[in-house]
Amino acid sequence: MYNEKLEMLIAGEYCQGSDGVTQDVLNPATEEIIAQVPHASSADLDRALQASADGFNVWKATSAIQRQAVISKAADLMIERIDSIAATLTLEMGKPFPESKVELNFVADVARWYGEEGKRAYGRLIPPRIPGARQMVVKEPVGPAVAFVAWNFPGTNVIRKVAGALAAGCSIIIKPSEETPGTAVAIARCFQDAGLPPGVLNVVFGVPSDVSEHLLASWIPRKMSFTGSIPVGKHLQKLSAETLKRCTMELGGHSPVIVFDDADIDKALDAVAGFKFRNAGQVCISPTRFYVQDSSYKKFVEGFRERAEALKVGNGMDDGVQMGPLIADRRLEVMDDFVNDAKAHGANIVTGGERMGNQGYFYAPTVMSDVPDNAKIMTEEPFGPLAPISNFSSFDEVVERANSLPFGLASYVFTSDGEKAAKIEAALEVGLVGVNHPFVSMPETPFGGVNESGYGSEGGTEGLDAFLRTKFVTEMGV
Ligand code: NAD
Repeated sequence: MYNEKLEMLIAGEYCQGSDGVTQDVLNPATEEIIAQVPHASSADLDRALQASADGFNVWKATSAIQRQAVISKAADLMIERIDSIAATLTLEMGKPFPESKVELNFVADVARWYGEEGKRAYGRLIPPRIPGARQMVVKEPVGPAVAFVAWNFPGTNVIRKVAGALAAGCSIIIKPSEETPGTAVAIARCFQDAGLPPGVLNVVFGVPSDVSEHLLASWIPRKMSFTGSIPVGKHLQKLSAETLKRCTMELGGHSPVIVFDDADIDKALDAVAGFKFRNAGQVCISPTRFYVQDSSYKKFVEGFRERAEALKVGNGMDDGVQMGPLIADRRLEVMDDFVNDAKAHGANIVTGGERMGNQGYFYAPTVMSDVPDNAKIMTEEPFGPLAPISNFSSFDEVVERANSLPFGLASYVFTSDGEKAAKIEAALEVGLVGVNHPFVSMPETPFGGVNESGYGSEGGTEGLDAFLRTKFVTEMGV
């Protein structure tokens, strides 16, 4: 049923780990073992490093137009194979099958966009001070890259690194999550089948801390890109420091939603309630702290409850399911902990607040009201289907509360007042602001956070720049 033969990809060849070590892959909806993912040995990782150095030499000498042709063909193959890859994604990650297809359409879209944008990695000419000189700024691929990504978007997290690197002319070694390996392997197959030269894309798995320590100690990768939690991001940045790799850090957040009295409350609810429970809340830009102005507060809480209770939760392969399980049992305990702590701080559990059933890692869509700012859920990223709601009175108060945490990824504002919107867009300490709608992630727009949510962007021209370096050339008399 699981639609992917799990092998690593090193130097253009699919392989098991040379030590024969593997790890179980579980379906989080059924807790069944669905596959074995191979672990790379040190020797395998060394082969991947050498392959990425060799692949880089070939790929950087390939024209941007030829690179785009390969990337675009890979995107076509992803769409051709979408039903099978989406089934793999749902079985290993849990999100509903239609949502997996939406993700994979986005994956192909990102690949195509980067492929095109790679043709526009322009330099520039700078007028000289010295007569007769010609001054040129040239963009070059930064070198072999290495990336580590989390399990919550098994396709998107992978393609944002891979397509950015390949479009810029870099090779890449990627270590996807061992919890969701099949989607990454299936995407890699699309690139290989599209004619990507050996070694340009390498996929490895293993014990995450061992793999990252080994790869980041090497001078071969010149760039490191990570999507995942803040503590792991900080650790990987330290490991990258010895060899001075450039880093992009796409880390966690704690996105405030600010609903002013002058907003259309029903439209605000329609925009954020479904979005809150998408991927069971396991989204770095998931709305996670709801601040609603006093006179709309009751209506908002009630509307959120109705929408949460109407959701169909279940196995993502079943028809009509809108929310699947959490990725693993460890996350159920974390959810209970958030809920119990909120209760102890005086919050009301409006709906949910507990595990659903005893098979699979399902947690009820949960709405809490009157949640004080010192409850753990208001200061730590829940990464699950929990919606804590609190009221506020004034503009200044809510801005201060929204900006009170060290995170700064996404934020959402609902208002019908253009002046207020402009003022709060400027005031929020974040990388992304959505006003009256939540769609802050597109292939062509920069995506990333500030402060503890990381730095650097993926998507947009900034996402390509992350894999380019700058060379200044000045010439005379030629
Ligand atoms: P985690 O930090 O243990 O793992 C996150 C990912 O990082 C995993 O896929 C893992 O393979 C990888 N990882 C862990 N240690 C690593 C290491 N030393 N070297 C290389 N890679 C390593 O967290 P978790 O329990 O799986 O997820 C929960 C938390 O992770 C959430 O609270 C959330 O903040 C964060 N998270 C963030 C994102 C995001 O998109 N920003 C995605 C997933 C998880």
